[in-house]
Amino acid sequence: MPLSPEQLAEIEALRASPQPTLRAVAPGMEKHLYTAQEVLDHGFVRVVDYMGDDAAICQAARVSYGKGTKSVQNDKGLIRYLMRHWHSTPFEMCEVKLHVKLPVFVARQWIRHRTANVNEYSARYSILDREFYIPAPEHLAAQSVINNQGRGETLTGDEAARVLEILKSDANRAYDNYEAMMSDEGQQGLARELARMNLPSNIYTQWYWKVDLHNLFHFLRLRADSHAQYEIRVYADAIAKVVADWVPAAFGAFEDYRMGGANLSAQALDVIRRRLKGEEVTQENSGMAAREWREFVDMIEG
Ligand SMILES: Cc1cc2nc3c(=O)[nH]c(=O)nc-3n(C[C@H](O)[C@H](O)[C@H](O)COP(=O)(O)OP(=O)(O)OC[C@H]3O[C@@H](n4cnc5c(N)ncnc54)[C@H](O)[C@@H]3O)c2cc1C
Repeated sequence: MPLSPEQLAEIEALRASPQPTLRAVAPGMEKHLYTAQEVLDHGFVRVVDYMGDDAAICQAARVSYGKGTKSVQNDKGLIRYLMRHWHSTPFEMCEVKLHVKLPVFVARQWIRHRTANVNEYSARYSILDREFYIPAPEHLAAQSVINNQGRGETLTGDEAARVLEILKSDANRAYDNYEAMMSDEGQQGLARELARMNLPSNIYTQWYWKVDLHNLFHFLRLRADSHAQYEIRVYADAIAKVVADWVPAAFGAFEDYRMGGANLSAQALDVIRRRLKGEEVTQENSGMAAREWREFVDMIEG
């Protein structure tokens, strides 16, 4: 079960005692507060707290632009302007605190995003639960033959069954030994902080993760992207849905300029300008390397 009975009781208690507030409230975010979205087989993401909304971004931006900036008075237009021109600090005025349960190997990728505040479950202090990420059959993919950092065809039949069996039996054997090493029945028992080193990286951990909207967008740009590993992407996708409800104008601008948009090099811009003038431009006369040209053509042709 993703949420423990204690966690469910804590959430119920919080939901049962709403407080009146003078703070800005984002109606779209209120419905996510204290509700957990299940991710992977035992994981979840839930919003613990948040600060700010679309208006908070504009409020901060107007400190720098003042009332005189008539052309950017409209909130949505102002937010699009800020996103377009990489004026990022107003987005830092919004913050979100999430409780996330995730496999350790996903946490290793996630923790690389240094611009967040993290507090993780202590496996020195507490005993980890017997919960391991085992991919659903449709996500049991073979190594890609064209991309060293990617997946190819899905494993099927006997091979899929063999791999699943190895994953499950190794995880359970390691956990059995974890318990046996810590057991103090007739022995001293190994410390938790040492016994855990024998556990596989598909075991689940949990953390509170607090980040501002600017850095969250950066995280989503990298991790909700098709190049990100599926197992972290599903968390990013779940968070993206929450952000879309929380700050719809900012998220719309982010989708348009960052997720759906693209950066062009000076060379790429030159190719487009030459083509618009009717010149036939190929990789050979573009100045781009073959791989960069392929990526450029894919980007333009969609
Ligand atoms: C598809 C993919 C593949 C990857 N493959 C690998 C891999 O093979 N090996 C590997 O090690 N990592 C890999 N990474 C991780 C990647 O290199 C980054 O560490 C990770 O995405 C976090 O990005 P970030 O540093 O921009 O984010 P954050 O740490 O959140 O930082 C955000 C921004 O803040 C600034 N910043 C933060 N800290 C500093 C600092 N100390 N100095 C200067 N500026 C700072 C930078 O502008 C940075 O972009 C991969 C990431 C992705 C998405």
